[in-house]
Amino acid sequence: MGSTFREVFRQINFRVDLIFNLIFPQKCVHCNLEIENKYRQVCFGCESEINWSRPFDNELKNQILQNIYIENVQSAQYLFSFSKEGVEQSLIHSLKYKNAKRTGINLGRLLGKSFLEKEKQQEIECLIPVPIFYKKKFDRGYNQAESIARGLSLELNIPMRNKLIKKTKNTKSQTKLTKSQRSRNVENTFVASSALSKVKAIGIVDDVLTTGATIREICKEIIKVNETIEITIFTLGVAKHE
Ligand SMILES: [Zn+2]
Repeated sequence: MGSTFREVFRQINFRVDLIFNLIFPQKCVHCNLEIENKYRQVCFGCESEINWSRPFDNELKNQILQNIYIENVQSAQYLFSFSKEGVEQSLIHSLKYKNAKRTGINLGRLLGKSFLEKEKQQEIECLIPVPIFYKKKFDRGYNQAESIARGLSLELNIPMRNKLIKKTKNTKSQTKLTKSQRSRNVENTFVASSALSKVKAIGIVDDVLTTGATIREICKEIIKVNETIEITIFTLGVAKHE
């Protein structure tokens, strides 16, 4: 009886997989090539084009720190750099606009691994994902920075805390704004919890970093609560300034 049930279940499972693949065939998020492994987001060809961050390549790291320009932020970690229309951009786009929680977690784990390879283990007490407005989270079903932070948390063994920073206003998308418009757009839109006053070092996690306006604004709010806190930035992608 039990084995018949398992067989039927296996068959149903197989068909569900088959039907699911017929309706939603798994395609590379960049070149649209069909891929067999449903857990992959990009094909092997596109994967080989990704500009992964390299150890001892500090140029972009310094660019991030200079953009944020806050004394408390002394360290930054990223997974890849990206330019317009590259594979990296398609990957990041897929995190936001397709339900891709798992991709976020996997990329977060990769970011964690590369951090452990390159940096001395620091005393980061918690990881805080850059929040999105609650209504946006409700519409999308999840916050992509939170998925990345979850993966990072698994790899670094540091807890993720998603309630220490709140976004209090809905803002326009930053993508089409200039550098100064971006700063103004996010001004006074975050609030930091007073619980942060007791923390020595934290990591802030986001999907991409372009001008750094959002993270800079968050850091400013955190420093209002805790002047001496040490902040490490974690991001998947960094926009290369051309
Ligand atoms: Zn591809």
